[in-house]
Amino acid sequence: MAGQPKELDRLMRERLLETARAAAAHAYAPYSRFRVGAALLFEDGSLVTGCNVENVSFGLTSCAERNALFRSISERGAVAENGEQRRILAVAVTNLNNMASPPCGACRQVMAEFAAPGAVVLFPGETAHGVEIVERKLEELLPYGFRLDGV
Ligand SMILES: [Zn+2]
Repeated sequence: MAGQPKELDRLMRERLLETARAAAAHAYAPYSRFRVGAALLFEDGSLVTGCNVENVSFGLTSCAERNALFRSISERGAVAENGEQRRILAVAVTNLNNMASPPCGACRQVMAEFAAPGAVVLFPGETAHGVEIVERKLEELLPYGFRLDGV
């Protein structure tokens, strides 16, 4: 996919969420049966997906969001062809259980490392109307993320 999407339109939001849902179908979640998918939209318009992968040693389980990001970097590097770091414009997270699933703190920190300013996250969240897709800026979800000043 080419182009430089500056702003997410409704169609792109739907496409991102649908892509995340498709990724959730690949989840390995035999213990929780909580299948999660994530889709990352990068500044160059590319989409990368991930799903959660559980382990019998529960602490080794890895979330869909981090798996997607690590997959992106391992397959094509953190730096784009133009020499700049690849940055995320938007992330969609969803699950096949119709439950709220905002990104965990670890994923928020990892996404922040590669987020463009103003990057947004779409996820099923608890609202006054039940579980609905909500959109928040990553900086709202992680207002005081860890950073090394000067680096
Ligand atoms: Zn997570």
